[in-house]
Amino acid sequence: MTALTDLTLGQMKAGLAARDFSARELVQAHVAAVEAARPLNAFTVETPEIALAAADAADKALADGTAGLLAGIPLGIKDLFCTRGVETTASSNILKGFRPRYESSVTARLFDAGAAMLGKLNLDEFAMGSSNETSAFGPVISPWRPQGSDAKLVPGGSSGGSSAAVAARLCAAATGTDTGGSIRQPAAFTGVAGIKPTYGRCSRWGIIAFASSLDQAGVLARTVEDCAIMLEAMAGFDPKDSTSLDVPVPAWSAGLKGDLRGKRIGIPREYRVDGMDPTVDALWQQGIAWARDAGAEIVDVSLPHTGEALPTYYIVAPAEASSNLARYDGVRYGMRVTPEGGSLADMYSATRAEGFGAEVRRRIMIGTYVLSAGYYDAYYLKAQKVRALIALDFERAWESCDLLLTPTAPTAAFELGAKSADPIAMYLNDVFTVPASLAGLPAMSVPAGLDSSGLPLGLQLIGRPLDEMGVLDAAFALERAAAFRAAPARWW
Ligand code: GLN
Repeated sequence: MTALTDLTLGQMKAGLAARDFSARELVQAHVAAVEAARPLNAFTVETPEIALAAADAADKALADGTAGLLAGIPLGIKDLFCTRGVETTASSNILKGFRPRYESSVTARLFDAGAAMLGKLNLDEFAMGSSNETSAFGPVISPWRPQGSDAKLVPGGSSGGSSAAVAARLCAAATGTDTGGSIRQPAAFTGVAGIKPTYGRCSRWGIIAFASSLDQAGVLARTVEDCAIMLEAMAGFDPKDSTSLDVPVPAWSAGLKGDLRGKRIGIPREYRVDGMDPTVDALWQQGIAWARDAGAEIVDVSLPHTGEALPTYYIVAPAEASSNLARYDGVRYGMRVTPEGGSLADMYSATRAEGFGAEVRRRIMIGTYVLSAGYYDAYYLKAQKVRALIALDFERAWESCDLLLTPTAPTAAFELGAKSADPIAMYLNDVFTVPASLAGLPAMSVPAGLDSSGLPLGLQLIGRPLDEMGVLDAAFALERAAAFRAAPARWW
């Protein structure tokens, strides 16, 4: 029999329903896997007692016939989601010891559906990063290693704890958040699937804010179907988030057919960038062939402002971050540093200087600069205008196609430390993911192949606003064609 930890979320649901195993057995197997995987540093807090209590409740509900969509399913929760009574830090020193007195709307929905939380997952500090190396808890180590080497690789970021935990079979699925690629890029780096829905699909209430006009919750899981099931539980209108969309949540998992007949898939020519790994390009071509085989019509499209997306993102996101992070002042949350004989202002600056890591400080400074009176028009306002043009590029593209197919990231995972000294090299990881974020579109990464070192690569699908069904179904078709079965060999 397959180990319980190797089952997909869909298989776990079927096994639980058939009483092949109990939720307690399923959760216990995952609690043990989490403990054994501490060298990966994927979890910042482990909550086995919460998971086991949820398992017992699930077993009862399964026996009563009252089980929810995720009864007994072991999940990891990115530590950007506030969880009542459980330390929530956004992987920042400034929030160490913070125990929210409320539950984020997304996690509340997951728990109402019966999910069992194994713990909180490591991330880049305040979700700022592409490698999980800016965490105050130290980096997450990818479960993957290059063939014939024991080099340590990054799991991607910022949802690096989520991607590592799902790839290493520590949980069935994990929540993630994506501001500029933080679900899709880590999913691609670790050979798992990840979807960021349309902006507004999932409530942001109770998620620690990074850049509010971009932040969106989503899922990392091992299959497209598992992503669809999770998203059904997470999405939905929430009056507590003013940007939440009051639209019905479709039954995405039931709609997966993998049939692309009648669909036009656009290939944006501007995504062919310098420095792209040739195996990434080859996989992209392969993906195009798979889409055509599944019945899609392939069309060449142009998104002329693609080259401006990254610089635009790195103005808008830090601007919003500098404003959102102003609340961490040593008065209301977490850490407080009070210099001997200092004033209130000294307390603010000492707390913030000690509480925030280097990348967060860099973003606050850039954000404050681009919003400052003398530079607002030249940077922030200009970036907002370019953002509108980027969104318009997509609107024009939808006149000739239904979905876009691109690589998720320009390379496979890199070694720990390889890019941490060079912020621009790090930011370039997001070149293919930020445009959809700026336009608020649903986008997904699906594992599609391996590079020459045996490391996973992903393909990205981008859809029209609210067309998660189209994105998921095309991803389902590619997943079937790619038949990606590779998993990291256990070394931890
Ligand atoms: N890597 C990007 C950044 O550092 C995106 C992060 C995210 O999506 N949270 O801002």
